[in-house]
Amino acid sequence: YRAKVNGNSYQFYSPLMNKDSLRRFTLEASLRHAVARDQMFLHYQPKLDLRTGKISGVEALLRWRHPQLGMISPVEFIPLAEESGLIIEIGKWVLKTACLQNVEWQRQGLAPIRVAVNLSARQFRDEKLLQDVSDILDQTGLASDWLEIEVTESMVMHDAESAIRFLQQLKLLGVRLSIDDFGTGYSSLAYLRHLPVDCVKIDRSFIKDIPNEVDDMAITAGIIGLAHCLRLEVVAEGIETADQLEFLKENRCDEIQGFFFSKPLPGAEVSSLLERKLRIPRQSDHQFQAKA
Ligand code: C2E
Ligand code: MG
Ligand code: MG
Ligand code: MG
Repeated sequence: YRAKVNGNSYQFYSPLMNKDSLRRFTLEASLRHAVARDQMFLHYQPKLDLRTGKISGVEALLRWRHPQLGMISPVEFIPLAEESGLIIEIGKWVLKTACLQNVEWQRQGLAPIRVAVNLSARQFRDEKLLQDVSDILDQTGLASDWLEIEVTESMVMHDAESAIRFLQQLKLLGVRLSIDDFGTGYSSLAYLRHLPVDCVKIDRSFIKDIPNEVDDMAITAGIIGLAHCLRLEVVAEGIETADQLEFLKENRCDEIQGFFFSKPLPGAEVSSLLERKLRIPRQSDHQFQAKA
């Protein structure tokens, strides 16, 4: 049995295929139609501004419900979409859907927030990306200040010179740029000053063992300090506990994102969070409360 998976490659299926490659084969084949068949949707995870205590933005996170296999993690399917090239089409859908959702929140009269979209390596190397972003902003009517693009440190470091040029062009469109998963790649901190970005997101791996790992605390505090010296904002991702929140507040982190405040939510649930003006708790009050 032989099936065409993308324009120029064939995959072979035989009864000898092991369980993993069979799953991969099935996922790759279904990924082609996942958008058209309405199997994909976005969840949005709030980012909290620690100074105001308010939601300042959300990160759009892609979800795929496979008709037979159920929910598939982006950690599993994004690499497949990258390899097959399908990420270009899926990525455009994500951008458009996230922009439309943000326009919808604004239309509902909610305080405007930024929506952040993750870019994959292949999209980042796609010459048409700039035009696509610009077209999507036009089509959806979202002002570019309300769109943020997250690229990972490793994507940028792969070919730093062309990445910088590309980021500069994206900046000209007026979108906000963040370096995602910061600290996990190979770049030296000093390299940051060459990148035309607005914000760094400290990777969850540095956050998860706070306050037990003093080294992680030192690294986190160091990244915040250095980023601030370079006039960059800092978001910490993966905040799960009150102790972690407290540590980040003390170290003047600008924003946090994590299950402690909210997991990624459907768009409608973000609307009600914004309506209720949910805030982070004060020090002695770790129960979240809706403020009228
Ligand atoms: P990421 O961009 O670093 O996104 C953050 C991930 O951490 C999300 O996982 C989110 O659900 C998870 N997370 C947030 N807070 C917490 C927490 O407190 N604890 C823990 N344990 N996890 C937390 P998710 O949604 O599974 O996405 C995983 C990765 O898949 C993302 O990492 C991103 O690299 C990629 N991804 C997701 N959506 C897209 C997309 O639309 N396009 C592209 N290119 N990549 C995407
Ligand atoms: Mg991200
Ligand atoms: Mg991240
Ligand atoms: Mg991460």
